[in-house]
Amino acid sequence: MTARILDGNEVAGIVRAEVAEAVSALPYTPGLATILVGDDPASHVYVRGKRRDAEEVGFASIHHELPATAAQSELEALIDGLNGDPDVDGILLQLPLPGGLDSEAAVERIDPAKDVDGLHPFNLGLLVLGRKGLRPCTPGGVVRLLEHYDVPIAGKRAVIVGRSFLVGRPLGLILSERGVDATVTVAHSRSADLAELTRQADILVAAAGSPGLIRGDHVKPGATVIDVGINRVDGKLKGDVDFDSAAEVAGAITPVPGGVGPMTRAMLMVNTLEAARSRRG
Ligand code: NAD
Repeated sequence: MTARILDGNEVAGIVRAEVAEAVSALPYTPGLATILVGDDPASHVYVRGKRRDAEEVGFASIHHELPATAAQSELEALIDGLNGDPDVDGILLQLPLPGGLDSEAAVERIDPAKDVDGLHPFNLGLLVLGRKGLRPCTPGGVVRLLEHYDVPIAGKRAVIVGRSFLVGRPLGLILSERGVDATVTVAHSRSADLAELTRQADILVAAAGSPGLIRGDHVKPGATVIDVGINRVDGKLKGDVDFDSAAEVAGAITPVPGGVGPMTRAMLMVNTLEAARSRRG
């Protein structure tokens, strides 16, 4: 293997330490509220991790659980209460919600000023306009990781595989905005000749949810490969990139686990701090 490993655990630790330092200088304690609906084991693990991070950086962690049988009105009443709670700066609604609940409506119910996942249409609209606002955590984490390792972005060709509103689309907007300045292609499941597209990338981001989709022959020699995918295969976590073959060709690569995942969690802390500062002045 020749590629340099981009260590998300290490960089996420640095980001959390920065947040903790900023929090210790505040005259108040920012509050992050988490909402978990139902019994999905993976969601329970994710929320536990987020609460642990929140406590580590010095936030108040306020947790609410609802049963999988909860009505939409019950969930929205909980969100309304948190919207109006002056001690709550960020609201994290763990997705996906159990069947029968409308996650779009629930996310839209969150006060955009407390939408620390950056998924409210208002915040996504600000992102499209290139204006300041709360931005989705995973794309923010990818950019922070690239910046930490001094990966050149301006003027470079970025190819993102995946067009979801959670990852691919917002990441394309961020990488191509003024000041970041990559030239971006967003590929998806209907793109023709994926390998021909991805081989043009200086920065190749895989966010397709398809284990091992990107192999060495998809990678331009020396490129930076960012693997967003988290897929459970035979009880193990696998990325969208076939690590061994891609690492033979790439100049730098993220592992799974230990790459983008920890960065996503760290950016939730950054967003909560930002939400607290903007709301409380
Ligand atoms: P999604 O299912 O909403 O979107 C997947 C996208 O990939 C779609 O746009 C689809 O067109 C495209 N795609 C699927 N198969 C493809 C193929 N064969 N060729 C080209 N394009 C293809 O998924 P998502 O929510 O964006 O998540 C993507 C992956 O990232 C998942 O594995 C998810 O678990 C993971 N994820 C990781 C983090 C993290 O923190 N690391 C955060 C969010 C999502």
